Amino acid sequence: MLRVGIDVGGTFIKAGVVDEGYTILHKISVPTGGDADFEALVKNIARAGELAVQEAGAQWKDVSSVGIGIPGLLNPRTGVVVLAPNLGGGWRDIPFLETVQKLLPVPVYVGNDANCAVVGETLAGAAKGNENVVMLTLGTGVGGGVVTDGKLFVGGRGLGAELGHMVLQMEGAPCGCGLNGCTEAYCSVTSLVKQTRRAMELDQKSAMHAYAKEAGLVDGRTAFECSKMGDKAALFVVENYCRYLANAIGSLVTVFRPDVVLIGGGLSNQREYLMDKLNALLPRFVFASEVIGVPPIRRATLGNDAGTIGAAFLDIM
Ligand SMILES: [Zn+2]
Repeated sequence: MLRVGIDVGGTFIKAGVVDEGYTILHKISVPTGGDADFEALVKNIARAGELAVQEAGAQWKDVSSVGIGIPGLLNPRTGVVVLAPNLGGGWRDIPFLETVQKLLPVPVYVGNDANCAVVGETLAGAAKGNENVVMLTLGTGVGGGVVTDGKLFVGGRGLGAELGHMVLQMEGAPCGCGLNGCTEAYCSVTSLVKQTRRAMELDQKSAMHAYAKEAGLVDGRTAFECSKMGDKAALFVVENYCRYLANAIGSLVTVFRPDVVLIGGGLSNQREYLMDKLNALLPRFVFASEVIGVPPIRRATLGNDAGTIGAAFLDIM
């Protein structure tokens, strides 16, 4: 049987038809529909699934289920989206599953997008073969997901595993969520850019000025690329950033004891340069690491496909 995975983002809806070997046979991407109202947006999501099935040359009778990943807080059992600020002008307490199920002829499963990503990587990506996995996705925010004993950990009402809002610093930097000192406030790319800008202001001679001018912007690469060229201010930013990130990962390792920790999102393109630093720092932030060791931190490998594959297999997690 085939499955359909749909990854709903603020800008695009990506839908894929996936076989039992976790291979995406066909995928499509359609605009989410910006500020469309709830019902129009749900129709777009269902239509994306329909289109993917058609274009794959399949029929609904070949499909066992549809899984949908949503960027927000939701209860996977009731299918109510409690909060999704990036969808249709902001969703609050939306009966999503009930509504979308009426538009699709096979059972529908829903999950948080970061949870879908960790499912995809666990079944088919960088954590394949592992039963205990923690994944952090570093982007505009910090998304996270946890698989324990081969099952997706979602917590009470499905609202747990918000790893990006684990507090890293008491009364620390303000986070977009309203709390202070969240992991996201230090480890998101948004925060890295802020830290980069601050370092540039303090050091007018830093190579980061020329690099940013050439690139036309300051982004998540600025400090990393300049630190590789030996720029001291850039290296300070990178090392400070990695210390916060390793500290956050260390606490997650102490709590969940994953077999492997995965890093996804744009910053994971720094590959071994980032992973080597994190792996070297990790033991000092983990309980009893000198006795029981620490798991490896690896780069997620499926990119955007992780969300699609993971959504498709929500039914078995
Ligand atoms: Zn927060």
